[in-house]
Amino acid sequence: MSTRHILIVEDEEDIQELVRYNLTREGYTTSVASTGEEGLKYGRSKQPDLIVLDLMLPGIDGLEVCRQLKKDSATESIPVVMLTAKGEESDIVAGLELGADDYVTKPFSPKVLVARLRAVLRRRGRPSQLEDSVIRIHDIEIHPQRHEVLVDGKQLRLTYTEFKLLQLLAGRPGLVFTRYQIVNGIRGEDYAVTDRSVDVQVVGLRKKLGDAGRYIETVRGVGYRFKD
Ligand code: CA
Repeated sequence: MSTRHILIVEDEEDIQELVRYNLTREGYTTSVASTGEEGLKYGRSKQPDLIVLDLMLPGIDGLEVCRQLKKDSATESIPVVMLTAKGEESDIVAGLELGADDYVTKPFSPKVLVARLRAVLRRRGRPSQLEDSVIRIHDIEIHPQRHEVLVDGKQLRLTYTEFKLLQLLAGRPGLVFTRYQIVNGIRGEDYAVTDRSVDVQVVGLRKKLGDAGRYIETVRGVGYRFKD
């Protein structure tokens, strides 16, 4: 396998260095951009396999960089992992909704960062799942065509919305979905799911899943994630 190339967009030198050092040690090739403008330029010219993007940048900020990366056909498919400060949940939500894949909150341990990046790269490397394919994860089996869910071989009775919610989250384990993304992902023809009702649906789904309900994790201030 060829070396993966990761672009780091971060203005603080010590964090640049920390990330660069740890990624290099893991065998990744790295480039560093210190401003959003530079990040966009390198994103287009270097075509990295992944971009680590700090949100707090001088000049155009990380969210704007993300927006521009995702609307440019030359860069839209490059996964983005945001670096965010504590308490920036609304920025995390905005970034995820702009198409960022994941985020790591500062201060972070290099180990956690490397693990997140590796997971994002691994997910990208997987052939995309067909909407109708069976999902098997932990002790859960989801059969989209039969609209059936089995936990430990036992069939559950889920509503349409609960089923779609489970299929969405379990179909991309490890990824955080914001409420807005969930609403969009499970919208049925005659169902109006709202931001708030997502929480209600999650509560109901967890209850029906019993022990397996713990796989649906709440990410405070951001949304929900199915345990990888
Ligand atoms: Ca910064």
